Amino acid sequence: MKEQNSERVQKAIEAAKKAHEGQLRKTGEPYIVHPLAVKKILEEWGMDEDTIIAGILHDTVEDTKLTLEDIKKEFGESVAFLVDGVTKLSTARNGMRDIDTYLPATKDNFLRLMIALGDDIRVLIIKLADRLHNLRTLSALPPDKQKKIAKETLEVFAPLADRLNMGRLRVELADLSFKYVDPRRFEELKSLIDKYNKSAEKSLKKIEEEVSMALKKEKIHFEISGRVKSVYSLHKKLAKHNQNMGEIYDLTALRVIVDDITDCYLTLGVIHSLYTPMGGRIKDYIAKPKQNGYQSLHTTVITKDKRIVEFQMRTHEMHEYAERGLAASFYYNEQKLTENYKKGKIEHLPTNLLWITELQTTAARLREGKRVDLKKLKLNLFADKIFVYTPKGDIIDLPKGALPLDFAYRLHSEIGDHVVGVKINGKMSNLNKKLEQGDIVEILTSKNQTPKSSWLEKIFTSQARSKLLRTLRIGYKSSSIEPKKKRKSRH
Ligand code: MN
Repeated sequence: MKEQNSERVQKAIEAAKKAHEGQLRKTGEPYIVHPLAVKKILEEWGMDEDTIIAGILHDTVEDTKLTLEDIKKEFGESVAFLVDGVTKLSTARNGMRDIDTYLPATKDNFLRLMIALGDDIRVLIIKLADRLHNLRTLSALPPDKQKKIAKETLEVFAPLADRLNMGRLRVELADLSFKYVDPRRFEELKSLIDKYNKSAEKSLKKIEEEVSMALKKEKIHFEISGRVKSVYSLHKKLAKHNQNMGEIYDLTALRVIVDDITDCYLTLGVIHSLYTPMGGRIKDYIAKPKQNGYQSLHTTVITKDKRIVEFQMRTHEMHEYAERGLAASFYYNEQKLTENYKKGKIEHLPTNLLWITELQTTAARLREGKRVDLKKLKLNLFADKIFVYTPKGDIIDLPKGALPLDFAYRLHSEIGDHVVGVKINGKMSNLNKKLEQGDIVEILTSKNQTPKSSWLEKIFTSQARSKLLRTLRIGYKSSSIEPKKKRKSRH
């Protein structure tokens, strides 16, 4: 990549060089190599200048004489804000350290990430870039530290990259870490993948040619390429399928990138006219994107020489977003930056990334010293989400396992507090019924209803729980007299 540093960026490099003067990395290189590598990663992700500058300076406050005040004076408030966030989040090189300011007792990494996220989502992006470079150079650390950092990356950072739909990053983080966490298994699976790819190479070339010819005939513009499955995702998939290689259908995949959505479906048609589609293996993530916003059309086919191949069709935009995720949306939205957005309080996030807003709210609560149920929080953050609808068609996203009361409290505390029943997809149902993807949920309320402590058992999300607890604690005014139970709900 050609270096074209602005004056501000150049100034930041000079400041970092001066600050880190004489410091060495564990690799033996001058320390400045690390912040400059982080800078380069952030540039590749297409991040804005403030983020890049903060990336260059991210270790200075922690490790050098440079202060936040200095940074604020030289580079402005926004950069200082970001550097502060990264500093609080962790010491980057040796894993994480507690953020004493907020929660001295916790060793919970999710929590620390959230606090940082609450400040500015770009803090996390800098942190991810930092972590990526540290992993790339992990071999310089002693084995016990290698394992610790790698494990933490697999548990925290790779899933986060996934939730941000930063596909390329997720793969690199996961594979780099897995190599340290379980070196033998890594090598075993890697050679398995290599062997398989080698044996499939010739027939894949042929399939590629056949598809290309057919697509040209249909006058569809396309790019086609093979995608290699990552070692870690194969490892996880094998674990899910009892180590049965026969059930892994996407070891070989071909990716077709086209101009628009219509062409995605046309391409699907072309492929199905060439090969036999496997039943139940068509996944339309265009009509129904994954929770992290990932979009693509997948199908698995059996070719003429009995090979099982997965095809993935997507537009250029979808591809860009699948690879770079949140970073891509920063990049594309830069024109319409608002002040809020600049501060990381993003307003034009795709609906599927709204969980970030949720995260920021929780972080704010934590900073105010309010209690948060960590177990529930983790669950909510990383469990799969479902999308359900109000009768008017508003989309509400909830974690898998959510119950009608979670839905009601999500709409409004007032609604939650007065629930007498629920209709799911037009039919009377009950408060113990788990909501499913796509359900239309109608909450029935009555002014006479009051919240019950027994409802706590019919609640799944921490948000709904805390809303209910709050009402129960302050007591419900009208509940000083036990209301007549004339509209006791039948479910
Ligand atoms: Mn660092």
